[in-house]
Amino acid sequence: MTERTFSILKPDATERNLTGAINAVIEKAGLRIVAQKRIKMSRADAEQFYGVHKERPFFGELVETMTSAPVVVQVLEGDGAIAKYREIMGATNPAQAADGTIRKLYAKSIGENSVHGSDAPETAKAEIAQFFPDAEIVG
Ligand code: GDP
Repeated sequence: MTERTFSILKPDATERNLTGAINAVIEKAGLRIVAQKRIKMSRADAEQFYGVHKERPFFGELVETMTSAPVVVQVLEGDGAIAKYREIMGATNPAQAADGTIRKLYAKSIGENSVHGSDAPETAKAEIAQFFPDAEIVG
């Protein structure tokens, strides 16, 4: 089933000029980048985006990290896009990520793990809506 997922290339990736390298992995996996823009996330954006983690001990660090440098926000489209992107991203902790995954290839640590991808259809819908009006998504 064709579906859409939301992706972020995080500050550690944009700082190291890895936008193109990560996009190459995404496209090679058969996912289409149907919306993309480079932004500086505001604190309010990051706090809303990661609201589910607000009681976690790493929340402050997470918000600091996500607002420290530009990010690239994206909508990816493809067959089973949500699960497929999670698969090619690799485990949250790069030390546990499988060979060939984006996090194995590029992530520096659990806190600077290069990419975000939605984990379910409802979160994908909400995350896409936070950053992209419908008119900016061209499939
Ligand atoms: P994801 O869906 O694989 O991104 O993982 P989670 O939803 O569990 O966590 C969201 C993000 O919070 C992760 O991508 C990490 O950047 C960050 N994070 C999760 N656990 C930790 C942790 O123990 N320490 C730090 N510093 N960051 C964490």
